[in-house]
Amino acid sequence: MSPRILLKPRRARPLYGRHPWLFAGAIDRIEGTPVNGDEVAVHAHDGQFIAWGLFNSHSQIRVRLYSWELDRRLEPGFWRSRLDDALNLRRDILGLNDSAGACRLVFSESDGLSGLVVDRYGEWLIVQFTSLALAQRQEIIIEHLVELLRPRGVYLRTERGVGEAEGLTLRDGPLWGEVPDRPVEIVENDLVFEAELRTGQKTGFYLDQRDNRRAVRALAAGRRALDLCCYTGGFALNLARGGATEVIGVDVSAAAIDLARRNAAQNEIANIRFEAAEAFAFLERLAAANERFGIIVLDPPRFARSRRSLEQALGGYQRLNEMALKVLDHDGILVTCSCSGQVSREDFAGILGLVAEHSGRSIQILEQRGQASDHPVTASCPETNYLKCFICRVA
Ligand code: SAH
Repeated sequence: MSPRILLKPRRARPLYGRHPWLFAGAIDRIEGTPVNGDEVAVHAHDGQFIAWGLFNSHSQIRVRLYSWELDRRLEPGFWRSRLDDALNLRRDILGLNDSAGACRLVFSESDGLSGLVVDRYGEWLIVQFTSLALAQRQEIIIEHLVELLRPRGVYLRTERGVGEAEGLTLRDGPLWGEVPDRPVEIVENDLVFEAELRTGQKTGFYLDQRDNRRAVRALAAGRRALDLCCYTGGFALNLARGGATEVIGVDVSAAAIDLARRNAAQNEIANIRFEAAEAFAFLERLAAANERFGIIVLDPPRFARSRRSLEQALGGYQRLNEMALKVLDHDGILVTCSCSGQVSREDFAGILGLVAEHSGRSIQILEQRGQASDHPVTASCPETNYLKCFICRVA
């Protein structure tokens, strides 16, 4: 019999609602002696079965839940069928899984696979494990992915901080087949981008902004554009292609800026300039020099990593947006993003309200966009609704 986890009274509600994280503080007692990575049955205080999950004594998320059906145990066939479901969504419903492009094939909680991310870049697969238990099951997972997708290679990327949080000791490196030993070319919205799968940020490219980059392109004509936190030029190139008069892209990472320049050249875009600089300092310099833009994209890194840092993060977003408005024309377009899952859409809209108040400008939110559909939002797990991309007109 599998070990049983019994919850404290009144702690079962979110889990019945299929939220996949059971935190240590909600556990009343454990019957049996599960080893990290083991399957456990989670029961409410009254003994009623809730779900099957995988145990990790090292993590604050003590159990990650995967199956809410008593007769669907977490056996190899279960993982294969979850992977099938994820891949079918991209191929049959979204039409995204083609060999020239890049897309997210598996997105952790959003695909019922808490702790696993798989991205496809043409003939390469990049895998991230953010839970110990799924890392332990990597053989089943990789074998099935290889069988279905026949990639040239599967490469493992790790995320900072996850190792300690989960008690994982993984290192970046090949998991199967060949190693992508140079940047891989992908096509997105008819632009070509090189992505550094082994050394770039995340798995090489911010795939979640794909649709927002296209939306921004449609607004750029005749405007001078600023892309702040541009990484390898995703928004900047789209702004230029959309008819911006001039584009400036800025990022603190020199490696990202190098690649952004190469991407611009590769697409034969000339009216674009990239600079390696810190965003706040760069905005100050622009304001001091009386520079003005007709469209500004703000896509900063995640400011809030936990509930505790939320207040500070909100302050950061407010300051960044206020500084950007100082160099935005009257009737300019502000495209402002936040990828902190802890910051809700209401929080973010509230911040823009404060920005309007402090800067004495009217901000009309024209569109409240989110992440691309290969990063679905799970109704049961609000944290998966993480990316905000608000398109605003600022008078
Ligand atoms: N817009 C990009 C993704 C941006 S991700 C795209 O479409 O691909 C956030 C970026 O912010 C990263 O590239 C990171 O290097 C950069 N960054 C982090 N801190 C920064 C800072 N203080 N100033 C400028 N850029 C910063």
